[in-house]
Amino acid sequence: MHRSLVALLLVACSRPSPPPASPPVADSAPHVVAAVPIDAAPDAFVTPSCVDDGKPYDEQALRARLAHLASPELDGRAPGTDGDRAARAFIAERFRCLGLTPAGDDGFAQPLTANGAATANLVGYVPGTSSTDIIVVGAHHDHVGDKHLGANDNASGVVALLAVAQAVRQHGPARRAIAFVAFGGEEGGLLGSLHFVAHPPAALPLERVVQYINLDMVGSHKAQHGVAAFGAFPGFASTKHLVANQRKYPRTNVWLGGHSVRGDQVGFCKQRIPYVFFWTPDDRCYHETCDTADRIDYPRMVDIAALAGDLVLGLADDTADLAAARARTGCGRSM
Ligand SMILES: [Zn+2]
Repeated sequence: MHRSLVALLLVACSRPSPPPASPPVADSAPHVVAAVPIDAAPDAFVTPSCVDDGKPYDEQALRARLAHLASPELDGRAPGTDGDRAARAFIAERFRCLGLTPAGDDGFAQPLTANGAATANLVGYVPGTSSTDIIVVGAHHDHVGDKHLGANDNASGVVALLAVAQAVRQHGPARRAIAFVAFGGEEGGLLGSLHFVAHPPAALPLERVVQYINLDMVGSHKAQHGVAAFGAFPGFASTKHLVANQRKYPRTNVWLGGHSVRGDQVGFCKQRIPYVFFWTPDDRCYHETCDTADRIDYPRMVDIAALAGDLVLGLADDTADLAAARARTGCGRSM
């Protein structure tokens, strides 16, 4: 055992303090950091994990996260505001404690300018075990601000994305890499996702992305008793997994197929990447000040998150050649 590991174990256990002659290894956090072997990932020792802090699709946990993101304090998370920064810090902290590998320019952050305001995408991933393919899951974190709190649009998608990330980490490694991206600047014209597609992180080259999954407004199933899964066309791998899993959620109606030309999937579709865009129509409060946390259809939002997670893991371990499928079909636009 590495000598510094012994020191760490002394720190970790509630043993009596070492004799006074010993170096003071146990009295403050900086010493713990210094004791980490240089060939180990420091976060494995100093970062508390939240991978197992609950079930991934626990309704109360998702409610609490949504309540924070859609709180009056964050005031609708418009790019460049304190609320935007608070939302990004919250998401980055969750990415970090879930053990995602940072893939931004600065940790998880991929900075960008949205109509003159400084904001960022947040990018992290779980490496694959036996494939170079990548599945990307995205949800935009911004909204329009100024008392428009954006609970459905799109705090709902962000909490669904975080739930899927936790499910993936609890599941353990899959064949394909799975990347999670919280986009900024969507409301200003898909700015974060277009920036991502124009400047993909070195670890996530677009030519290896075989599927994009978009989560935007997944909290209003009750408005029209259904959730769209745009982009899930007959014969697509995504459709196979959705059909196989949707019976697990009998109270959630899934409408398969159709194209959407609005949303963060657009840039991916232009790169001929198949997508599934989960979206529930909101009859009344779309971009209105009544898009608040109390209107969210939580049980169905949790179902949609879980179905998205089933889809992600199903695709990540699918033995089919998804790169060949992408090359053949693109996103289905020309079909
Ligand atoms: Zn949106």
